[in-house]
Amino acid sequence: EKALVWFRRDLRDHDHAALAAALSSGLPVHCVFVFDTDILDALPSRTDRRVEFILDSLRQLDSALRARGGGLIVRHGRAVEEVPRLAREIGARAVFVNRDYEPAAKHRDAEVGRLLGEQGIALHEFKDQAIFERDELLTGAGRPYTVFTPYKNAWLKRLSSADHAPCHGNGQFAPAPAEALPTLDDLGFHPGNLGELGIEPGMAGARKLWDEFRTGRIQRYGALRDFPAIKGVSYLSVHLRFGTLSIRELVSAALAEQAETWLNELIWRDFYFMILDRFPHAAERAFKPEYDAIRWDEWPAGLAAWQQGRTGYPLVDAAMRQLNHSGWMHNRLRMVVASFLCKDLGIDWRLGERYFAEQLNDFDLSANNGGWQWAASSGCDAQPYFRIFNPITQSEKFDPEGKFIRRYLPELAKVPNKYIHAPWTIGRLAQEALGVVIGRDYPGPIVDHATAREKTLARYAVVKKA
Ligand code: FAD
Repeated sequence: EKALVWFRRDLRDHDHAALAAALSSGLPVHCVFVFDTDILDALPSRTDRRVEFILDSLRQLDSALRARGGGLIVRHGRAVEEVPRLAREIGARAVFVNRDYEPAAKHRDAEVGRLLGEQGIALHEFKDQAIFERDELLTGAGRPYTVFTPYKNAWLKRLSSADHAPCHGNGQFAPAPAEALPTLDDLGFHPGNLGELGIEPGMAGARKLWDEFRTGRIQRYGALRDFPAIKGVSYLSVHLRFGTLSIRELVSAALAEQAETWLNELIWRDFYFMILDRFPHAAERAFKPEYDAIRWDEWPAGLAAWQQGRTGYPLVDAAMRQLNHSGWMHNRLRMVVASFLCKDLGIDWRLGERYFAEQLNDFDLSANNGGWQWAASSGCDAQPYFRIFNPITQSEKFDPEGKFIRRYLPELAKVPNKYIHAPWTIGRLAQEALGVVIGRDYPGPIVDHATAREKTLARYAVVKKA
């Protein structure tokens, strides 16, 4: 009899709850990853940095497991079929997984659990992605929190060292057959620019980034985190997404370093996992149902201009080009461009959410949905009504010298700092002299912010009435 660990978004061999439990079971442990065609077939492009990231991370995981006497079995097919089949083939007594909070994943896991059960095989699920999950933190009235600050206070109050202690298990691996891992081509995908971007996948890439952040920038995170031109944040999101490092290790270090602001961000991550898990309707509709009354504009050309970074608002355009080029966008800019889509262009936040889901290397349904609903004011936000970001003042405040803007919009290189946030305000003759003619070299503003703001106030008025 064997134990089978099914890896999903936890691509590491250390501090891993399901693996630790499987090893502790006393059974020889097999490990599997399934390239799930239910997920891969739905991806809009056959060039996807995330598939490459996963594949490279699996190579590292396989080597690490082989060095410990095991190895990784990799399958390509429908996970709901592959996992029960493999479990039967190897004679598994139980399958061990780390819990996932997305509606589709919960559905998949319930189905796998049912199919395994029919074969007399148990499915054991563990908390691994989050520090607290499900109903572990509840309000005094016994309900899930829907506002961050009280949730955070409860999170901090409940936290004890056991909650972020590493998960280790002593036991023995079952040797994996000496099969080569599939190639990107086998999976039907083409290489993209991951290597060119210098994004290093896997446990090694995670360790490198984390050491750099922990020993250097973590202390200055609070001061620098809002400025996209500065290397102020951790860039760990893709690694947290694929579990190439453990949240418990990050939380332990954040506490040791007294890095309160950064710890806050990790708590936001837990918060949004919990929100999606407890309120799955948010994946489709407004978290606050009264916001479903809003009527958005159908404006395909506006959406395309936003997606391609051609709105004429330099900070928005530079941010979108950063996303398109690298699959990552700075958090301040995610807020700015999301607000711009729903509150300046009047376009449904779900269209922006979908575009982010396609483009982001770190795409995570809970954080992405939480971020978009926050931007659309339909989500978990303590603000009594709603805010409308001004894309020009955001730009002046967070990229005062236009350094970030110029990095992604070289056509504006020569525009003086004073005008970089709203280049259409340069007089026509001065535009000619600079060689940056608005409408020729760079688009004019797609909307007038003041007018758009009025339209948004009117659009959102239905919410108050509901
Ligand atoms: P750091 O600032 O170093 O933060 C450390 C970690 O904390 C991040 O890696 C992330 O795991 C977590 N974190 C930080 N902020 C948040 C947050 N607001 N919500 C949840 N977790 C957070 N983050 C994603 O991981 N995936 C997404 O798909 C995603 N979509 C977003 C969409 C919108 C509209 C907005 C406003 C935010 C979104 N975020 C998302 C949150 C945040 O922007 C990114 O986590 C962050 O920019 C990643 O960079 P970093 O790793 O350097 O973060």
